[in-house]
Order: sequence, then structure tokens, then C-alpha cells
Amino acid sequence: RKKLSGAEYRKRKAIKEANLKKQAGALKKFLRRDYKIKNLKSRACLEDEEATVAPKVVAPGEGECRSDSEESSSSCGNDNVSSRTASAASPSPTPIPCIISSDAVLWPCSITDNIRQIIVEQGPNQVKDLNFPQHGGRWFPVSSYMWRLRNSEEVHREWLVYSVSKNSVFCFCCKLCSTCDSLLIPEGYANWKHIHTALRQHEMSTNHLDAYKSWIELCHRLRFNKTIDSSHQRILQAETRHWNDVLQRLLAVSTYLGKTIQNEFISLSSSKLTHKAKYYSIICDCTRDISYIEQMTMINRFVKCEACQQVKIHEHFLGFIPVTDSPGFGLTEVILDQLKEMGLQLKDMGQGYDNGSNMKGKYAGVQKQILEKNPRALFVLCSSHSLNLVVSDAAVCSRHVVFFFSLLQEIYVFFSSSSYRWAVLKEHVSNFTVKPLSTTRWESRVDAVHPIMYQLGEVYDDVLSIANDTSKDLMTRHEAVAGKMLDFQFLCTLAIWHKVLNQVNIANKLLQSPDFDLPATIKVLDDAVTFLSDEGFQSVIEEAKQLAQVIGMPPELKQTSQIRPRHKKKQFDYEAEDEPIQDPELDYKVNCFYSILDTAHTSVSERFQQLHEVCQSFHFLYDISGLNNLSATVGVELLKKCKDLQVYLSHGNNADIDALELFDEL
Ligand SMILES: [Zn+2]
Repeated sequence: RKKLSGAEYRKRKAIKEANLKKQAGALKKFLRRDYKIKNLKSRACLEDEEATVAPKVVAPGEGECRSDSEESSSSCGNDNVSSRTASAASPSPTPIPCIISSDAVLWPCSITDNIRQIIVEQGPNQVKDLNFPQHGGRWFPVSSYMWRLRNSEEVHREWLVYSVSKNSVFCFCCKLCSTCDSLLIPEGYANWKHIHTALRQHEMSTNHLDAYKSWIELCHRLRFNKTIDSSHQRILQAETRHWNDVLQRLLAVSTYLGKTIQNEFISLSSSKLTHKAKYYSIICDCTRDISYIEQMTMINRFVKCEACQQVKIHEHFLGFIPVTDSPGFGLTEVILDQLKEMGLQLKDMGQGYDNGSNMKGKYAGVQKQILEKNPRALFVLCSSHSLNLVVSDAAVCSRHVVFFFSLLQEIYVFFSSSSYRWAVLKEHVSNFTVKPLSTTRWESRVDAVHPIMYQLGEVYDDVLSIANDTSKDLMTRHEAVAGKMLDFQFLCTLAIWHKVLNQVNIANKLLQSPDFDLPATIKVLDDAVTFLSDEGFQSVIEEAKQLAQVIGMPPELKQTSQIRPRHKKKQFDYEAEDEPIQDPELDYKVNCFYSILDTAHTSVSERFQQLHEVCQSFHFLYDISGLNNLSATVGVELLKKCKDLQVYLSHGNNADIDALELFDEL
């Protein structure tokens, strides 16, 4: 590197210094010393505040200026909101070191965004301990800060503020965010005689609801943005995620761990109840563990509603409870004890169980026992489980169907019981292999039907080639199976069940999705049952004919041997002859197709009757968006439905809702 000459060096230094001089103080441009905010007093105000601690008023600049700040601060002597400096908490780029009175009357007359932020940060101040002055012979009722619902739940009206200087009440959020006039905004409300009605009316008004929403949103935004430690929060969240992942992995491998560790896991994962939701539902199911002790799983389900957040359904696993007495009475006792232990009220409960008779039983089942104590603990069955039972009912409804499923099982046993046969099958059938049937898992029926339906040709060829393999003994060849498969009725039943199970499979998947509601459930169930009709029979026959072509057999229904009724001597002429149906197609249609339809219909209507009842009472609530442009007649009808619902949800002196309030809200 070449060394600079002295003159050159000095020249460069001068340029450098000149540049530095030019930029001097540039940083200070970002740090403003002068907090000159329109309509607000200067920093002196703050210094006064700090000395006196009492909140002081920021005098508005123009119009009806209020100079009574001294008076206000003296009358707010027992103000229980500690005055805070807004500069410490304000998220605005220019911190405003001012305090605005908690008395709504004394707010500046034009509220800018900055002032609104400060007021929101300070929050509403509800004066309670004060010798309220009289007005019209009455005093301000402090109880109006709370609103008691029909179901004895108390709701805090955090938006209601009392102005000491004017002896009247204001709506905090409307005064802050709403532009329209309401009784509670310009002058405040002081008619203590009618205050409850006025407040009810106000809090139902759209303007108030909008203002309330903007207030809450602003609160959240401030808390979210400003919280200085948002980066800390991110770190914390990452940490939580990490440990959740660790826990999940541990749980995944826990099946390989010893029983003590497993039990410890279970007891640790059973959660302590921390939710504050009033209403909840319990889901219980019993199963026997390996040491033959009946264990009841208990799950608590509730809805979490928070302002400005999505409504969420939560389920908490409460643990396994050993049960010694499994009939309904014993179980009810166990459940009630458990609820008491957790401090949950029976009157706020709903129930959901599976189809076990000790649970759903009409006379001695748990649901009945609990309903006797609280008729509002509505019981809803597990729909997927019920659907499974509908399939099981239909699977034993006719001799054709029984024959069909037993043949499916026989085909599975045929291949699986010999490794030679299994090897032959594996060689030709690549996609699905045959599956066994299970009586408890209805999905096993789908698994068993699919391979045969889609690979009938391949499976049949294998059965045939094994039967014709003369190098094997007759036991191995088991020729009977091939003969049984050559049956057109078997193919028809295969086509029917393929359709039925597909439909049920769709319904079942839908039923398990979390955002599914009652009316949708009922619709899916109806669709699942009614999709097979008279015309459906022809399409089934067509499909079966194609299958018959695949395995090269004549597509005709044969008269199967059936049990003939004994010929009795008739005493009277009006007793018709009880003759079996001669036409094979009609016989199949009546005894198999219709039989499946009938069984499914009866089974669904019987098993889902309770669901229909519950749905009928709540149905109108699922279409709230349709209530927008309400005609008079629809209004009357809606009011009637609300009233019906109130009756439905009442027991003794307790009621969960108030029909008129619900109607107003809708
Ligand atoms: Zn309001």
C-alpha cells in the first residue's frame, strides 16, 4: 500500500471532518424533545401529576374548554385507579406523557387516535365506594355494573362507567368509539328508576355492539403490538412447541415402555380443570383392562368463547376411573362423585356416551339416572358408533346377506390358513389382499368387500387354479369355495354392499370432522339411508352382470333352497296360502334388497331418534344468517321457537335462557 503524502493526508482528513459535521445531529432528528401534541398540555402537566398523584384533566384546546380540572381531581379523591403515565405504556411512536381523567365527562371533546389509545390503556374506572348523591330521590345502584342472566350467571358490564362530576352513567366504549348519539353518550344517563331497562336496551343496540367490538379489538392490538417482550413471547412459544413435540414423541414410544411408566404418563396427561366455561359436557366410555378391572374414561368437553377470538371447542382428558359396579346405578354414582370432586355443577352438564346399554339404557342407564336429577343434561349418542350398529343390524337381516359375509370370511380363511395358497394369491393379486371380518369394527367390512369387488377375476382364478392343482391333496385344494363363488346372488349382494359401505364410509368420515353440526349430521344420515331406492336395484343387477362376465358365469338368479312352510289344513277360507315366492328375481329383491333397506331405515330411525329430538329444539339456531331480513310472520314464528326452547331448557325454577332476550339478540 502506498503511503500518502502529508498534504494529501490533510486534505482527506478535512473532507472527512466536513462530512461528519454535516451528519452531526442526524440521529437526534429521530429523538424529539418537544412533545407538542395538539390539544394537550405540555410536560409540565405530567410533572404536576407526579407530584399530586391524583389524575388530572387534559384541557381540550377549543370549544367548550373545561377548566374545572382542579375540581374534578378533588372530587375524584378516592379514585381507585392508580394514575399511570401513558408514556410508559403507549405504543405510539411519539410517547404522550399525559393522563386523561377517568371521568368520561372530562374527556377532551374531540378524541384523536392518540387520546383514544391512552384512554383505552387506562381502561374504564368503575366507581363503587362512594356516597353517591341523590337524583330524583334515588341513588345510583352499584348492582347495575353486573347483569344477572336467567341461568343465574352474572355478566360484568365492564363498559359502564359512572361520572362523579355529573352524577350520571356513560358507556365507555360508545363514548370512545361510536359516532352516533345514544342516551348514554352525550349527556350520560341519570334516571336511576329505569336504569336497568335503559342499560339492557343499550347493550343490545347494534351501535353499542359495534363500539364494544372496536374497543376490545383496540385493547388486543395494543396489548399485542406494544408488549415490549413480543420477542420474549416468541422464544417462549418456541420453547412450548419444542416440549410439546418431545412429549408427543415420548407418548408415541410409550407403548414400548413398562406399565409403571405408562400409568404415570396417563395420570400426568389427565388434566386438571382450569376452564371457566359455565356449560360443559362429559363423554364417558368403559373398557376392561388387562387385569379385568373395568376402567371408565372421562372426557370433559366445553366451548371456549373469548372476545375477539375464534370460538373453540376443547376436550380435556380427565383420566381413567376404576369402576367395580358396571350397571347404570353404580356408574352414575361414580360419575357424580367425580364431578363433585372437580367442582363441576350437575345443572350445567350435558352427556355423550356410546351405545352400551348401561350408558344409554332407557330405564336404568346412566343417561336416564342423570336426566332424572337434571332434565336439561341432554344426552347425545356417539353418531359414528350408532352408524356402525346400523351396518351391523343390516348385516344379519337376510339369509342372502349372512351367506355373503360368511363366504367373504371363508375366502379369507381359505387363503390365510395355508402358506401355499397365500403365496398363490400374492403372486396374482397385487393391490389389496383379502381381509378378515370383525364384528366390532364395521370398517373391517369395507376392507373385506373392496379386494373382492375390485379383483374378483384374479381372486377367482387363484381359487380355481388351487382347486385344479392335482399335485396337492384334496384338503389343500378345497374345491368347494370355487363353487360357492359361482353364484349370481353372491355377486348381486357384493354390488349392494359395496354401494352401501361406500356411502356409510363417507358419512362416517363426515361425522368425525370437528366442524360438523347437528342438522348436517341428520342430513348425512338421511342421505346414507335413502340413496338406495327401487331404481337402485336395477343398477345393482347391471353391476352384478358385469362382475359375472369377469368370472364367466351366466348372469341369472337361481331359486335357492329355502325353508318351506309346512302344509297345514285350513279351517277357514279367508286364510290365504302362505306360498314362497316363485320368481327368483322377485324373491331376491324382497328377501335381500328390501330387507336391507327396511332394516337400515328402522335401525336409523330408532337409533337416531334422540338426536332428532334434540335437533328439533335447536335447529333454528343453526341458520342465524337467514334471519337477516325477517318478515313479521317469521318473527312471530321465531319468537315461538325461542319460547319453546326456554321451556325445553327449564327445570323447576332454573332456566338456561330467556326467550325474549334470545329473540332480541337473534
Ligand atoms: Zn355503549
